[in-house]
Amino acid sequence: MSAEYSYITCKTALSPSRLPGLKYSLNPYLGCAHGCVYCYSPSVLGDRQLAMNWGKIVRPKQNIVEVLKHEVDHKPKGVVGVSTVTDPYQPLEAKLELTRKCIEVLAQHGFPVSIQTKSKLVLRDADLIIPEKFDVGVTITTMDRGLASRLEPGAAPPDARAQVLEEFSSRGVETWLFLGPIIPGLNDSEESLRQVIKVAARTRSKVIYDRLNLKRWVMDRLVPVLAQERPDLPERLQGFVQEGSETWRQISSKVEAVCGELGVKCEAAFLSWPSAQ
Ligand code: SF4
Repeated sequence: MSAEYSYITCKTALSPSRLPGLKYSLNPYLGCAHGCVYCYSPSVLGDRQLAMNWGKIVRPKQNIVEVLKHEVDHKPKGVVGVSTVTDPYQPLEAKLELTRKCIEVLAQHGFPVSIQTKSKLVLRDADLIIPEKFDVGVTITTMDRGLASRLEPGAAPPDARAQVLEEFSSRGVETWLFLGPIIPGLNDSEESLRQVIKVAARTRSKVIYDRLNLKRWVMDRLVPVLAQERPDLPERLQGFVQEGSETWRQISSKVEAVCGELGVKCEAAFLSWPSAQ
């Protein structure tokens, strides 16, 4: 997926975060070239133009490293989530290295960093990402390469993401696997869930699982893909994904059962993790 790029400037690098375990979030880019069809970052950002062109527009924050260098001397220390409404290792990062420079500043100033990505590019920064200061999370919704490429057209294939967990786990870095969103009728079969959870078992990663979040503008991008996969699904989806629905209860039970069987720690994200990623 190719995207249009134009620089912007930011006033703040570290934003207060309400996500559990995070004191701040840091997003070096506005927009995300991975273009996942279920992503609700545009809704969190409240940007309609970005939402209608999600995956096609990326705005790097040109001055974020300088702003961050000023903030780390003045703000109280705490865990920084990198990132919460964009992927910090999307393709442009290979050239610009904004994320790399930011995590370097954070580590030097004693701010622990929690990274979440769908890209192998994070391995480039393995020299910086040490166990004492970092944890690394990778999102995998399915191990089916074809389905993943339709749901997450700009992201790395699932086996490449699994390699990220393998590499960091072998280096002693705490790793976690974000299994979500789980979409009823699409990636919720026991076999599909098991394939993903096996990656967590192999890499000693905790699983955080999540349901589909149908925030504003999500259905606009999701429906065409769902209609191709399962024509009956779009109109039934709203009822399926509501918190407390029988469908979600069954999915949760399946995830918990497979994790229990494979000895993997797991928790439901929506209880504690309203991330857009
Ligand atoms: S879900 Fe994450 S990786 Fe996918 S488009 Fe949204 S921010 Fe990017």
